[in-house]
Amino acid sequence: MPQPLASLSVRRTIGSLSVAAALLCVAGAAAKADEAVDVIIRGGTIYDGGEGKPFVGDVAIRGDQIVYVGKSGRYSAGKIIDAKGMIVAPGFIDPHTHADSFIRSPDKAVRVNAAWLNQGATTVMIGVDGSGTPDVAEDSGKLAASGISTNIVPFVGFGPVRQRVLGQDARAPSPAELDRMKALVAKGMCEGAVGLSTGLFYAPQSFSTTGEVVAVAREAARRGGIYDTHQRDESSYSIGLLGSVKEAIDIGREAGMPVHFAHLKALGVDVHGQAGAVIAAIDAARKAGVDVTADQYPWLASGSSLDASLLPRWAVDGGGPALLKRLDDPTMLERIRGEMQENLRRRGGATALLLIAQGFPWTGKTLAEVAAEWKLDSRDAALRIIRQSVEAKDQGPRGGGTAVASFNMAQADVDLLMKQPWMVTSSDGSDGHPRMFATFPEKYVRYVRERKVIDLATFIRQSTGRTADIYKLDRRGYLRRGYFADVLVFDPDEYAPRADYVRPRELSVGVRKLFVNGALAVDDGRATGVVAGRALLRPRPAGCAAPLPG
Ligand SMILES: [Zn+2]
Repeated sequence: MPQPLASLSVRRTIGSLSVAAALLCVAGAAAKADEAVDVIIRGGTIYDGGEGKPFVGDVAIRGDQIVYVGKSGRYSAGKIIDAKGMIVAPGFIDPHTHADSFIRSPDKAVRVNAAWLNQGATTVMIGVDGSGTPDVAEDSGKLAASGISTNIVPFVGFGPVRQRVLGQDARAPSPAELDRMKALVAKGMCEGAVGLSTGLFYAPQSFSTTGEVVAVAREAARRGGIYDTHQRDESSYSIGLLGSVKEAIDIGREAGMPVHFAHLKALGVDVHGQAGAVIAAIDAARKAGVDVTADQYPWLASGSSLDASLLPRWAVDGGGPALLKRLDDPTMLERIRGEMQENLRRRGGATALLLIAQGFPWTGKTLAEVAAEWKLDSRDAALRIIRQSVEAKDQGPRGGGTAVASFNMAQADVDLLMKQPWMVTSSDGSDGHPRMFATFPEKYVRYVRERKVIDLATFIRQSTGRTADIYKLDRRGYLRRGYFADVLVFDPDEYAPRADYVRPRELSVGVRKLFVNGALAVDDGRATGVVAGRALLRPRPAGCAAPLPG
């Protein structure tokens, strides 16, 4: 039996858009003949999120639960949805998002998280790449109470944990400092985090040794958490892609926990063609008993920043002010420019970096174009943008002009990774990159319909049940009786992305109905404004009653 979900429930409605009864009723028996339910979705082609074949049938919803999925139910309902010709699936689960600009917006209308709703996503993971706060209960509580339309699943992140104890320093923690870091991870897990996320590529997390990560990851492992990582190197920056894959697997093995690779890819010309070797390493680990999985987004460009993709890590030791000091020192500047040259080559040159931060003079131009305009070497153009971004952050919130789409993946690698039985769909959705608004339909149109890399059933499985299994989400990801009613109805002919790299904020189309916890969140392609999303917190694990270490 699944354990009861400790969920912070919000069932506010806006205006007259009233929702079905909020009572949590666990369906004890199958629906009887002509049983009254709230909603019937009738005659759609049902993909239930599992390995089975699709079939034409009905889905019935009462309150926030699915009470029937099958071919021969008899009900009466206040709302009957004719889904003939439509695909009916569990709401999509996005295991890697940077949805903060939506769900943390002061604007109610923005908080409905339309970028994800319009793709059919009902649940998003937050606090990824090591960014999640250890104050999970407080943060999730605030988010849920503020009124959001998708469910959220929080990670506790290695970044804030390390920063709170060590600041931006490039050094190892003392034993006492390590204990404090472990206590913060334990706190996050005890408050309901799904696991520990890391972003070992990013400073200051990049300053950690493997042993340090294992030590803090154990605190998540002993409380049932997953290790979810933006790995140290997706390219040839430091230990190399394959060395980095091995490190993550070692961390999982040593800490005793499942390992999940976020946005798995072979980034940059040096590692193109290495997808096969990555797959072999993961398959070998799985055979040896380490539970290894991954997610991936269906785009050839990653989203990053000029500083993260071009600057050597030592140059940012100590944060922005320390970086500016180094840039002002001619000897240091030359060293930095030298290493930037190599990083540019690795990324495919200045023409492969598209500047995507919105609202800047350079928005929508490649670094090469901006450099030509400014009559600067492309490295110096990048440094000018980085410098203004750091200075802007010192003066207020308007920083972040450094965001780039970095065209650095090979199609063959993306295709091969997508076909693996341990792969799921993620958006890594972040501001300025179309993946935030269009990942799921992009994958459907380009990879299922046009190029036939995977079939529709695999696409849906990779976006629902398999993802729920990886993160052990309680009664999510499947269309099954007794599960929460996160249900997607989409038109297979019209479901499509509208966003691209130049216009990244266009809403996707083709979602006919989307239910979140039984409430209608999208109706004929439009967000209804209903905010039925919940914080999906893990029940308090064993090992939390005792005083925390440190
Ligand atoms: Zn990441």
